[in-house]
Amino acid sequence: MPESSRYDDILYNRTSFQLIALSCSSLLIFDRGQIFMNLVSFSIRTKGINNFTRRLCTVFTRFGFSEGRVRKSLYALIDSLRKYDAAPTFFIPAVVLRRHPNLIRTVAGSGAEIGIHGYVHNDYRSLNKQEQYQQTQQAISVFQTIQLPYQGFRNPYLGWTEESLDIFAALGFAYESNEAIIHDVIDLNHLSAVQKSGYEKSMDLFQAIPCNAYTLRPHFEGSLLRIPTSIPDDEILFDRLRITHPEEIGHIWSKIMQCVYDYGGLYALNLHPERGILCKKALDILLTFAKSQPRPVWLARLEEVAQWWKERSKFRLKITPLASGYWSVEASCTPRATLFARNLTVDYQTATPNSSDRDRVCSHRCIVQSTQCPTIGLSHESPQQVKYFLHEQGYPVERCSHEDAQKYALYLDIPEGLGTTREEQRSKRSSLVQQIEQLDAPFLYFGYWPDNNHAALAISGDIDSVTVQDFFLRVMEVY
Ligand SMILES: [Zn+2]
Repeated sequence: MPESSRYDDILYNRTSFQLIALSCSSLLIFDRGQIFMNLVSFSIRTKGINNFTRRLCTVFTRFGFSEGRVRKSLYALIDSLRKYDAAPTFFIPAVVLRRHPNLIRTVAGSGAEIGIHGYVHNDYRSLNKQEQYQQTQQAISVFQTIQLPYQGFRNPYLGWTEESLDIFAALGFAYESNEAIIHDVIDLNHLSAVQKSGYEKSMDLFQAIPCNAYTLRPHFEGSLLRIPTSIPDDEILFDRLRITHPEEIGHIWSKIMQCVYDYGGLYALNLHPERGILCKKALDILLTFAKSQPRPVWLARLEEVAQWWKERSKFRLKITPLASGYWSVEASCTPRATLFARNLTVDYQTATPNSSDRDRVCSHRCIVQSTQCPTIGLSHESPQQVKYFLHEQGYPVERCSHEDAQKYALYLDIPEGLGTTREEQRSKRSSLVQQIEQLDAPFLYFGYWPDNNHAALAISGDIDSVTVQDFFLRVMEVY
């Protein structure tokens, strides 16, 4: 969207804008008035004037002047997940943590994970690399002073840049969770002009990425794991689309879960804890739906996902030919790994797989029968990044020559690599995963999730504010 048209609603609603500024001014001391005005402009630009006005009105219903209301909401989420022996992941700006250390320590003590949501609640896209580095360090130092362990970073507004990724890796984060995967679950034709505009602003703000089997799974960039989050989140549904009925929200989230399940991906739901009570029923609907799938769905905190993905990245398959048509398979992996054999006769099974996952191999050492080697043959001309990528996806790969192509379940010759721009890389990787998943040949591969789970669900939430004071301090705390 061109920059000029993004400001249109501000210009056309100047009167409302002045009214809002006036009402807020009674709550704040404006020694940094310009900053405040910039922040209000930013909120209006990204949310739209109508949504901004509504958001302002709901502040007093979602937050109190003490921690009580948000504490109740946080525990509503924690208790819903506890029924399934699971826990949520919360992200919090360091300045908010510093004001509420005891509350957050107690929440962490209940089993919830706490990750970093910036030093203050600002958009890293408006900062240069040095500023991003400084603020990330400042945030870390608050967590260290409070002695709260952390593994991950989620940016406010999911506003990451290429520099952010370098900084997170350099400062030792295990993961970040900013890539926003959009699911086609909203009928845009039935939205009013205001709703549609709010929805489009969200897509723009969150740099939405289309969903498929590849984008719905985490991936490493160097030592940093990138864990996708799925949208629309609660903020888009409540504030921008005005969908507030718990059953309708539960139904939308279940539709996303179905899509994630079909692709064997991860659904990282972002549910702001301030709506924990409002969304309790919707969350219960989603959890019941996830748990009623034919194959199990892993309910995990994001740090557990990161830990698993690191563990899984070291798995390898050694496949050696025996007598004609027989192959010895030795999986180097942890006991949590699941090995699958497609279009193969597996000998020496240690147990009988159940009907819902008939390709599962129940032993990490077996003999398989196949006319072709059940791995991917990769040309010598294909760069090493292709091999890393295939390993990360859990596929066995062997270098081979063009002449031996027929001996493998699939032969790949990709001398040009996997693309240069992010969009190109995403598109090439997505098509490659799709091609391999649809492969109708004898093939062995590792499952994506531990302990035979078919997909994963992580309930996460950003604790942007705990009290009304936090909410209004946000507009002052930009550095
Ligand atoms: Zn936030």
